[in-house]
Amino acid sequence: MIRCEDVLREVSNYIDTEVTEDLRHQIEEHLRGCHNCTVLVSTTRKTVSLLSSSRILELPSDVSQRLMQRLAVHWS
Ligand SMILES: [Zn+2]
Repeated sequence: MIRCEDVLREVSNYIDTEVTEDLRHQIEEHLRGCHNCTVLVSTTRKTVSLLSSSRILELPSDVSQRLMQRLAVHWS
């Protein structure tokens, strides 16, 4: 069983479908029961699709760090 921390760590890989089949299933299972992570995935997916329209595939690290910090507040 994976935890929110694991989803947080893997979210960009998950969106890029760069996770193993097994991990993807575990994340999807987690998302069914966790509203915070569902929001995290949809927010990150929107951000990534915005950025990919300008062909930038990775968030600048300071931006993603700030995003993660903001989202982490929901879990504390
Ligand atoms: Zn979660």
